[in-house]
Amino acid sequence: MAALDITLYVLSALAGLCIGSFLNVCIYRLPRGKFFSKARSFCPKCGEAIKAYDNIPLLSYVILRGKCRSCGERISPRYPLVEAMTCALFVGNYAMFGMHGLTLVWDVAACALITASFIDLDTMEIPDSAVLVLLALGLVTFAPFGGVSYVDKLIGCACVSVPMFLLAMFGGMGLGDVKLYFVLGLLLGWQKVLIVFVVSVVLGAAVSVIVTAVKKRRGEEEFDLSEEEYRRLPRGAVCAEGETPLPPKKMRFHVVPFGPFIALATVVAIFGGDALVAFYAGLLGI
Ligand SMILES: [Zn+2]
Repeated sequence: MAALDITLYVLSALAGLCIGSFLNVCIYRLPRGKFFSKARSFCPKCGEAIKAYDNIPLLSYVILRGKCRSCGERISPRYPLVEAMTCALFVGNYAMFGMHGLTLVWDVAACALITASFIDLDTMEIPDSAVLVLLALGLVTFAPFGGVSYVDKLIGCACVSVPMFLLAMFGGMGLGDVKLYFVLGLLLGWQKVLIVFVVSVVLGAAVSVIVTAVKKRRGEEEFDLSEEEYRRLPRGAVCAEGETPLPPKKMRFHVVPFGPFIALATVVAIFGGDALVAFYAGLLGI
């Protein structure tokens, strides 16, 4: 491996760690509507501002052994996880596409998808800002760039999002997920967005089944209520068994948020999409 190549791998990793650290700030601030706040990062438990030397991606978490220096509260392992994921995707993108505009495109897409996934986990909603970033990437690559033709992109926009939009009308899917499929279709073309669709549905269904089974076992049956039934219940009411209190704010109608599965499936499509498309084309004899 040439020295330049090694340098670029190291730079990709460092950029991933630093930008991952910034994504943690986005994930915290975007749903709270104070993205442009000048306040420094602070411990959510004791409110103490985090010193610059305690804010080094990954390293600080290891040195502090996952605890706040000021109050000793456990720091969520999510922070280093987001940094590590961003780092891994940046390095992966460079390994896959090298010195090419596509590396930058997929780096930005990775940031949008990671942010959308964790905000979806927290709030059951996909932020429009992440969708807009992906839309911009879809438009920027709206040229015979990266081997996706105009026609493939335009079909990609509609082929998953339109059926899913109809499903969303009947409450089967969130609108945020539909928007994600739309912009990913524009970015990836119809062949790969179909891969995203199949992989995300399979992963999502598998995890939903597991989560439902675990909740049933623990006696948490809150998901059995329909939206209508939930609205009719007085605040603070308990479920039929008289044990499980209802979630305080918003009823969760879906067992698990779907955004993270779409994001994960997109990573599969980026890194394995060409091989999968070739495999299926071979099966069909195209
Ligand atoms: Zn603290």
